[in-house]
Amino acid sequence: MSIILDKVNYKYSESTVYEKHALKDINLKINDGEFIGLIGHTGSGKSTLIQHLNGLMKATSGAIYYNGEDIYAKDFNMRTLRSKVGLVFQYPEHQLFETSVIKDVSFGPRNLGLPDLEIDLRAYEALKQVGIGEDLIDASPFELSGGQKRRVAIAGVLAMKPEVLILDEPTAGLDPKGRDEILDRIALLHKEQKITVILVSHSMEDVAKYVDRILVMNKGELIFDNTPKNVFAHYKELENIGLAAPQVTYVMNRLRDQGIRVSTSPTTIKEA
Ligand code: ADP
Repeated sequence: MSIILDKVNYKYSESTVYEKHALKDINLKINDGEFIGLIGHTGSGKSTLIQHLNGLMKATSGAIYYNGEDIYAKDFNMRTLRSKVGLVFQYPEHQLFETSVIKDVSFGPRNLGLPDLEIDLRAYEALKQVGIGEDLIDASPFELSGGQKRRVAIAGVLAMKPEVLILDEPTAGLDPKGRDEILDRIALLHKEQKITVILVSHSMEDVAKYVDRILVMNKGELIFDNTPKNVFAHYKELENIGLAAPQVTYVMNRLRDQGIRVSTSPTTIKEA
C-alpha cells in the first residue's frame, strides 16, 4: 500500500470572492504500516487533506496515486479506494443510527453486498478489535457511554477491512480515561493488524506518545514531515503557530487528570 500526493492544491469556492486556498502544493508519500500523526491548528487544512486521501474531495490541481494508480484517472475504482482508505470523521458517534450495535457495524459490509456470514464475521471481529464485548452487541448505540459509542463508530469503519485508517480528532470531547482508551486501542490495531494509521489531532501530546512520523500543517502548507523528535526540535516555531510543545501539554494534561484546572495558554501554566 502507498499513497502519493504530487503538488496537491485545493481551493474552496475557486474564482469567487470566497476563494480559500486550503491546500498548497502538498507533496507527500504514505507508506504501508506507518503510524502517522497529522497536526496543525484549527483551519490549517487537516480535514481537507484527509478527505483527499480517500477521494471524497477532488484536488483543484496536482495528482494522487494509490498503489501507483492515478485516482483521478477515468477507469480508477473510487469505490474500492473508499473502502481501502477508511475515514473516521470527528464525532463519528453522531452518525450511528441503527437500532443495535451489531446492525450499525454491519452497515458498511452489507452495502458492499457481502454474504451474510462474512458480514457477521467482519462485524464481530471489528467490535472485538475496538474492545466492545459481546454483552453489548444487541444494545442500542444510544445506551452506550461516549467512549463506547465512538469505538462502535470506529468498528463500523474497521468492518470494511481498510488498509489505511484515518481518524479525525478521535479523542475530541472525551475525558482523559476515554481518550487513553481510544488511543491505546488504535495503537494496538496498528501493532497487531499492521494497519496504516493516520491520527489527526491538534494535540501534540496525543500524537507524540504514539506515532513514528509527524506531519505538521500550517495555513494549508505541510511545514514539517519528520520523526517526532526532529519535529519537536522546532518547538519555538511550533509555539509560534499555536502548537504547544509536548512537554508543556504533557504537564498540563497530567494536572488536569488530577482535577486541577489549568489555563490553556501553551506557554504559561497557571491554575485557573
Ligand atoms: P482543519 O481540519 O485543520 O481545522 P480545514 O481543512 O477544515 O482545517 O480547513 C482549512 C481551511 O479551509 C480553513 O481556512 C477553513 O475555514 C476553510 N474551509 C473548510 N471548509 C470549508 C468550506 N466548506 N468552504 C469554505 N472554506 C472552507
